[in-house]
Parts: sequence; C-alpha cells; structure tokens
Amino acid sequence: MFIRVALPVPGLDLLTYRVPDGVTPAVGARVLVPLGSRIVTGIIVESRAVAEGVEGVEIKPIRQLLDSDAFIPPDVVDLARWTAEYYAAGAGETITAILPPKTRGDRPDAHKTRRVASVTAAGAGLVAGLQAGSADLAPSCRLSGRQREALEILAGAPAGIATAELARRGISGDIVSRLAGHGFVMVRQERVDRDPFEAGAFTADEADVSRHLTPEQESAVTRLSAMVAAQTFRVSLLHGVTGSGKTEIYLRVAAIVRAAGRRVLMLVPEIALTPAVAALFRQAFGDRVAIQHSGLSDGERHDQWQRIRRGEIDVVVGTRSAVFAPVQQLGLIIVDEEHDGSYKQEESPRYHGRDVAIVRGQRAGALVILGSATPSMETYHHAVAGKYERLVLERRVLDRPLAAVTVVDMREAYAAEGPEVVLSRALRERIEIRLARREQVLILLNRRGFATAVFCRQCAGTLDCANCSVSLVVHGEGSARRARCHYCNYSVRVPPACPACAGPYLEQTGFGTERVEAEARRFWPSARIARLDRDSVRRKGSLDALLTRFRNGDIDVLVGTQMIAKGHDFPRVTLVGVVSADVGLGMADFRASERTFQLLTQVAGRAGRGSELGEAIVQTIYPDHYSIQLACRQDYTAFYQREIHFRQSMHYPPLVSMINAVVRGRTFTRAMDDAAGVAERLREADGDRHAFRVLGPAPAPLGRLRGEYRTQLLIKSTNRRRMREALLAAIAAAPELQRRVSVDVDPVSVL
Ligand code: ADP
Ligand code: ZN
Repeated sequence: MFIRVALPVPGLDLLTYRVPDGVTPAVGARVLVPLGSRIVTGIIVESRAVAEGVEGVEIKPIRQLLDSDAFIPPDVVDLARWTAEYYAAGAGETITAILPPKTRGDRPDAHKTRRVASVTAAGAGLVAGLQAGSADLAPSCRLSGRQREALEILAGAPAGIATAELARRGISGDIVSRLAGHGFVMVRQERVDRDPFEAGAFTADEADVSRHLTPEQESAVTRLSAMVAAQTFRVSLLHGVTGSGKTEIYLRVAAIVRAAGRRVLMLVPEIALTPAVAALFRQAFGDRVAIQHSGLSDGERHDQWQRIRRGEIDVVVGTRSAVFAPVQQLGLIIVDEEHDGSYKQEESPRYHGRDVAIVRGQRAGALVILGSATPSMETYHHAVAGKYERLVLERRVLDRPLAAVTVVDMREAYAAEGPEVVLSRALRERIEIRLARREQVLILLNRRGFATAVFCRQCAGTLDCANCSVSLVVHGEGSARRARCHYCNYSVRVPPACPACAGPYLEQTGFGTERVEAEARRFWPSARIARLDRDSVRRKGSLDALLTRFRNGDIDVLVGTQMIAKGHDFPRVTLVGVVSADVGLGMADFRASERTFQLLTQVAGRAGRGSELGEAIVQTIYPDHYSIQLACRQDYTAFYQREIHFRQSMHYPPLVSMINAVVRGRTFTRAMDDAAGVAERLREADGDRHAFRVLGPAPAPLGRLRGEYRTQLLIKSTNRRRMREALLAAIAAAPELQRRVSVDVDPVSVL
C-alpha cells in the first residue's frame, strides 16, 4: 500500500511512500521517511494512495510510523491542503508549518516533568496507626521526627505532593528517599504542562459579570446567538466603533457556544493582545482556555497544543497561526480587528489568517465573527453584497463620546516654529495639560529609529544599505549611534564623513520614535516616558512588562509605532498625539489610504475609553487628504465610498483578485528578463479571452533586497483560480526559475 506524505521542505509537493502490508496508517499521523540521504518526519496526508509510478523509479518504504492515530486532526490536514493550493505554496511546507514546535524535526516530544511523592499503602497504614496510638512501634521507631512529619503531610495528600513543594516546606529530597527506601513513600515522574499564564501573571480587572449590556450590545448578542443556534456556517461582521464593547459580545457568544458543547477559536492580530484577551476568557471559562502564538517558548506552545489536541480546551486564543489549532467541534471563530495586516503571513505559505478562518468555519459549520471598527475593504464589500451579515455598534459603552480629533497642519507649524519641529506647540500644550492632571498620553509615529536617513550636503547622497535599495536608519545617539537596515539588519557606525565623496557635512534627516522619545524627555524631564516599538521590546516578556507598567499608571507618556494603536484598552489615556499621520501615504501601495485611515481611527480610538473625555491631535502635511480628513471625522462609511470608487476605477481588490509575483535575480537585467518571460507566457495563455490582466514586468518598489534584484508582475482577474493556474504553469515552463519567484495571492503589501 502507498501513502502520500507532506515533508518540511520549501516548495516540495507531497511524496509517495510504501507501507508494509497489514498496516493502515491514519491521515494526520507522523511518519519517518527517507528523503535523499536524510531521514525526516512527515505527516501522512493520504493513506490509501495510488502510486503514480514513474517507470523505473522505485517507491521507497517508510522507516517508521510514529503515531497510531492522527497526530494532526484530519480536518486540519485538509485545511492546510486547501491553504497550500489557494496560496500557491508547497503542500509539504504548508502542512509542516502548522505543526507545533518540537514535533517538526526528528526530536521526540519533549515534556517537562516533575517528581511527585505520595504515600504508599504501608505508609498510610502506619500513619493511621500512629495517630490512633495503636501502631506497632517497630517500624515507626525507625523513623526520625522529620521523616514522621513528612509521612503525616503526605498522608494528608493522597494524590501526592511535588518534591519541589516538599522542599519548600523543609522536607529535603533525602528524607523523601529514606521514606521511599522503607517502602512508605513512592516517587513518580509526572508530566507537567507548561502554562504561559503562570509566567505572564496577567490578570484581568475584576469583570462585572452582571453588567448590563448596552442596547446595541444586547441586540448584537441576541442576533449572534440565533446564528449560533442554527449550527451552520455564517459570517457576521461586527462593525463597532472603538470602545463599543466588542470583547464583551465575544465573551457572551462564546459562553453560549460552550454551553452547547462546542468550542471557540479566537484570533487576535498581535501577540501583545493575547494576554489581556486570554485573561478575560480565563475569568469566564477557567483553565479550559489555551494560548497559541509564536511568542511562547517552544515548551509552552507545545504543551498548550497538546492540551488542545487532547480535547482539554474549550477556547483557544492566538495569533494568525492559531487558525490551524487542532480544536475539534468548533462552533465559533472570532477574528478580532479583522482588518489588521498582520493576519497575512509575509513568507511562504503566504496565507491570510482571516480568510483561512472563514474557510475553516465553513467546513466546521461554525459561526465566524469578524470584528472591527474599521473593516477591511474586502470584508465591508462582502457585507454590502449581503454575503456577510453586518451588525453595528455606533456608540461607545456608557455613552462615552468618541475622542474629538484636531488636525494640526504641519506646514504652518514649520513656518511658525522652524523646520526642525517634531512636536508642534499645539500638541505640546495638550500634553502639558494631561501631565498636570496625571492622565496618560499616547504618541504615535509609525517609524522606528532616531533619524530616517543620513544625507550628505556635498554630494546629496544618502547612506544606503549594502544589500538593499533603502537608506539606513540611524538608531541611538552620541557614541552609540549606528545606521541600520530595517530589512536585512546590515549596520554600520555613522561615519564622520561621506563614504562617497568624503564630504564632511553629513546631516541626519527625518525622524522616528527614538527621536520623539528624546524630544519628549527634553520638554518634560520629570515625566515618566517610555517607548514601545520592535526595538524596545526585543527580549521575551519585555512587551508584557511595558504594557503592564503603562496599564498600572507607572508611565505618563508612551511613544510608539502602530503597536500602541491596536486593540488595547487603557482607560486612563485621555490624549493621543499622532506625530506624522502621513507616514504611510507616500508608499507605492494601493492600500496606503486604507491603512492610514485604519491606523488613525484606531489610535484615536485609544483615547477617552475611561470616564474622562478623550482627545486626539493629528499632525500632518496633507490635512486635506481624504483618509486623514475622514479618519478625523471617524466616518467609516464615507471613507469606504470614496475608497471603493478609487479601487473600482483602478481595477484593484476587492473588485478584482490580484496576485503579486516577484522575480529575484543576481542582476537587474536577469530579474527583468525572467519576469518578462513569465509575463509573455501568461499573455499567450490568455490569448484574446482577457481573463486576466498582466501589469509589468517592472522593478518592485523595493528594488533590491538582501543582495538580490527584484522585479514584479501584478496580475489581476475576476477569476482567481484561472489566474493562479496560468501563473503557475508559466513559471513551471522555466523550471530553473521556480526558486526565484515568490507568488503572493491576495497580497496585503505589494512592496
Ligand atoms: P472595543 O473592542 O469595541 O474597542 P472593548 O471591548 O475593549 O471595546 O470595551 C471597551 C471598554 O468598555 C472595556 O473596558 C470594557 O470592559 C467596557 N465595557 C464593555 N461593555 C460594557 C458595558 N455594557 N457596560 C460598561 N462597560 C463596558
Ligand atoms: Zn538591507
């Protein structure tokens, strides 16, 4: 008999192996197989495969079957196969990408264990006798006082006590082993599940279970429970302004689903958001809640995954990859902040967590809730078309008003205060009011580093990355200054003179979060100021720690990138300042306006979530741009109308489907020629059917990356499948090209 196996090798399709007669392996089981000269672990994807034998090629036998049952549930294997096909990725790499750590390679499952001591029948009998005063003193006189004390403690805990715990109570390992030597105590190794909740120690504020829902929350819950009761696949867009209490709705609907004996999967866009959300679910559902994200240690992630697989979990909270968690009997999938770009994986398999969630919901007959204050164009488009049911929350809880937004025209600020100004006078005045009132402030600038470029006044050149077509970003000040590439991490000391022309006038231009932080410290030396971006939270745990400090009121002003804009609920924030609202608008990306609108609306939504009024100050040099104007008015519908019109006239998603194919090459000409070859074969295949449009080849906006040149084809069509198949065929026609092309279906970023 033959099986088809997925192996963790990029671009590799399923491979066929022979199994001995009489063995029927399960789909989803792990298997050791030979691959070239190596032995690798794979996942069985088909168990009764027909061998499409190639003449003269022998089908190799497997080495060892590692599981007698499915290790990955078969429906999850199927979901991964769908993902591989839809996103034009290798089935092998996709299926193995969803495995938890420690099960991928050739390492066996690793478990953390502990030693547990428990009393034996003889020991229990002795204690009982001693306590009744009737014991035969012969054995007991062999015991020291400490040993007797230990035996009594253990007799009081028949399930046993961990030796570590006994040690804390003054009972050494030595005493335990003496007792074991007498046969009164038994010591066993026990597996412990590493629990990320223990370490994070995140506690939700005391939730008010009896709290009254707002009328809008009430009617959303009523409608969603009706959908859940139908136990069929539905998608609902929960379109609620920031602070409208969407989380409360998720919790209520999840409770209904759980009461009906089904399970819940909740996706959040950022690792940073999981502890808070998981803590709320833990409060409601006890410890049958698991977390899945890449920020956990391998051990924690592995143990949580195993608990889910064993069916010990009712609610899984996690980031993108949790969409493949081995949960069974799914009744509800929640995708919170569904518009968020981080649901898209930017390496192969390039899947979109939200879209895979919808497919999973469809297959499980589950309700899918997509929650957002600023739905993606795709989702809203489906809602308008009636494919998704839209539920609206227009008001914040307790009738708290949305933050009032004021735009500061930076061209005027530059004229008044000079071109160097980072925090305008208007913003500084507002910050001072908050500092005096001991309220908290968030300052957003979606750009890391101190300065964005080093510029030579003599030759007008910039300090560029050696491997990528970008200028280096300055990090740090004074002697700690380095210029670093944000794409490949290449870095150099900032030189005293221009490396190109030796000109001595090097100037730093542009600014990032580090500079904003420094400015804030300069203006308010006694305020407690901190920065949150990818540079400041590199160490595991530091992000949680920083957010907790902010939440506890130990920080007055938090400066950060979009990481501060997402989903957080900080009730003491009354002011949000946006330093340069237009950072994203200059990008050569059709989603630039959408992203800007979302970011501004979301960050303004962080202000005024408590009892005090909130306010946002938005600095920009394009005060008239529609995405800035409409974000300031928080008018989603107007933005959607405007943006959909643009997408329509330019033939962009969601009105057509799009694939971005990037060809990499050692030289620019090579990359360009190869992309042109693909484009030509595509156009030929299409003939005069006009099933798709091919744009390019053109240099990619990021023209060089990690030493390779990049060229790009954008393909658009209303028939995604046909377009994908034609593209794959056009690439397959030049086998040598395979490794140098990346195909991104439904791209979120086209850089
Ligand atoms: P959203 O996700 O819609 O931005 P959240 O779910 O974070 O909003 O809720 C905002 C705040 O309102 C939270 O602090 C939450 O505890 C609180 N909240 C939610 N529902 C109610 C309610 N019915 N009454 C009072 N406060 C509520
Ligand atoms: Zn670089």
